Amino acid sequence: MSINKLSPVLAQTYENFPKGRFISLVVLRKTESETIFRTEGSGEPMCSEFVQAGLMDKNVIQRLVMTKRKQVAPERRYGREFLRAHELFYPSPKEGSLCSLNTNSPCEMCVDCFLYGFAAGGGGAQKSRIWTEDAFSVLPATDILGDRTINAIYENGTMRDQNGNASTALNTSEYIKPGVHFLDVVTLKDVTADELRYVIGIIHRTSRYGAVSSRVGRMENQILGIFGSIAELPSSLELVQATHDVLGQPLEHPLNIDLLIAATKQVISTWTNK
Ligand SMILES: [Zn+2]
Repeated sequence: MSINKLSPVLAQTYENFPKGRFISLVVLRKTESETIFRTEGSGEPMCSEFVQAGLMDKNVIQRLVMTKRKQVAPERRYGREFLRAHELFYPSPKEGSLCSLNTNSPCEMCVDCFLYGFAAGGGGAQKSRIWTEDAFSVLPATDILGDRTINAIYENGTMRDQNGNASTALNTSEYIKPGVHFLDVVTLKDVTADELRYVIGIIHRTSRYGAVSSRVGRMENQILGIFGSIAELPSSLELVQATHDVLGQPLEHPLNIDLLIAATKQVISTWTNK
C-alpha cells in the first residue's frame, strides 16, 4: 500500500492545533517466548480483566491484558536507541544535556518528544499524539498461563539430597506461554507521513516486552491493517470480541495464526464503512 492513500488524513507538517485526523494501526502481538506482564514487581498476579467474550457471545471470560505502559515503554526505548545511534537527539533547552527520558530534560525537538509528548519547564508542553489502549488476549487467561516452581538444587546437581529428600520450592512463577496472541489498536493523531513511518518502524522492530531478560519477553508484532479516518475506530476490546465471534467455538491454545489473521481481517474489512 502506498502511504499517499492516507494523505487526506496526514499532516503536511507539524501543526500546533489538532485537526481531528486519525490513523489507526491494527496490531497483532504474539509472544515468542515465555512472557511476563505484571502490574508492578514480582509476586503480583499477571494483568488481566474480566470481559465479555464476544460482542455476540455474552459469556464473561478473564483475558490477559498488555497494558498501555507495557506497549509504549519498550517501543519508545527502541525508537530512542535508533535516534541516539543516528545522532537525532538535541540538547535540552533547560539543562543543555542531550534529550533523555525521565530526567526532566526533553530536547523538545526530536521525533520522540514530538510524538509522545513532553512537559517543559519553561511552560511549553506537547501532548502525546499516540493513543494506545490496553491490548487483550484472544484466548482466556486460564488457557494461556503456565506455572513453574523453581526448586533449590543441591550440590550433587539434582533436586534430591543424598537421602532422597526433595528440595523445597524457592518460589512459583506464573508466565504467559509462547504463541499467545494479543489484538491491539494504536491510534495516531494529526501525524505527518514521516512520523507515521517512524511509528510503523518501531512497532515492527521492537522485540522485547514486559519483564525482560535474556530468555523471557520475546514478542513479534504484525500490522494487519492501517486506517485513516476523521473519527476514532473501534477499540482493542471491540476488535478482540468481534474476532472471537468470527472464530467461533471451541478455541484452544495454541491458536492457528492463519485462522486468527483471517478472522481479524474479516472484522476490520467492515471498518472501511466507519
Ligand atoms: Zn527529544
